[in-house]
Amino acid sequence: MTKPWYSGIGSILMFHRVCPEENRRRIGGASGLEVSPEYLERSVQYFLDNDYDLISLDRVAEILKGDKPAKKFIALTFDDGYADNFHFAYPVLKKYKVPFTIYVTTSFPEKSAILWWYLLEDFVLNNEEVAFEWEGQTSHFSCKNLSEKEFAYKSIHNFIAQKKSKVPLEDLLKAVLKNHTDGLYSKTKELALSWEQIRELSEDPLVTIGAHTVNHYPLSKLPDSEAEWEITESKVRLENQIGQKVEHFSYPFGTKEEAGNREFEIAKRCGFSTVTTTRIGNIFTEHRHNVECLPRIPVNEKRDGSDVANLVLWLNGMLPGILNKFKKVVTH
Ligand SMILES: [Zn+2]
Repeated sequence: MTKPWYSGIGSILMFHRVCPEENRRRIGGASGLEVSPEYLERSVQYFLDNDYDLISLDRVAEILKGDKPAKKFIALTFDDGYADNFHFAYPVLKKYKVPFTIYVTTSFPEKSAILWWYLLEDFVLNNEEVAFEWEGQTSHFSCKNLSEKEFAYKSIHNFIAQKKSKVPLEDLLKAVLKNHTDGLYSKTKELALSWEQIRELSEDPLVTIGAHTVNHYPLSKLPDSEAEWEITESKVRLENQIGQKVEHFSYPFGTKEEAGNREFEIAKRCGFSTVTTTRIGNIFTEHRHNVECLPRIPVNEKRDGSDVANLVLWLNGMLPGILNKFKKVVTH
């Protein structure tokens, strides 16, 4: 019986985008970060009908400090700062008075982020083959059918994500995508929240604005001073824009590859009340000693076949227990 053992005292859910399904071909890896507004609403209705307590991250912090939760809690978080959170998630969550957090990468509203994963998706979908040269090595992918496209997208995505800083990233993207996009910043203009929208959201007591670095680089790949700057500077910029303290943070990408002990120490020094990774697990009272690396449950409508019952298998601990080889409290 896994249920009581791996479900803990509650869960922090991780979303990215909330948008109506597009009537065009998509790559699974990119579209897996999107849920439909209908699915979000059905999930919220399910949680309310099944006696979960939908709470803010401030409340999660209080519980981890020792406050007794009345019932099993769920905290909703949205990473990166997509404008569709404002257009599609906010109306649903306001309707049911559900608190939620948006972790904003400040280069999104500053419009200096390159949403290269969407540029790459379009590029792979629109071409039958992809070839590029980087540091003397030629890479070649056939992209004639969807499975070849999925493979090419995944391979090139991982290749780009492992690169270090901004200047080579732009050069690398130009080398990979050549002139096949409307510009490196086209998706940012289309998809990122504006400062006006962030300020409006922050004025609603239901909404918590959290930090998610300035540039969304994999922090572990940066020198100490840059990693520290990415975290502290994003907190300062957000606080200046919204006129409130920013007490919560999540690591970009957030797996063991991009966030480890050094990043946890920096986040600790910043004094955040909670910090989340993308490690998968539920929250236990033992996490009071690890508020700088709280695991989450990723919400993936396509993984779950749009069925909320399948998401519940993660909340009740069944799937995290198996995934984590029956380790209960996921931290580092
Ligand atoms: Zn992110």
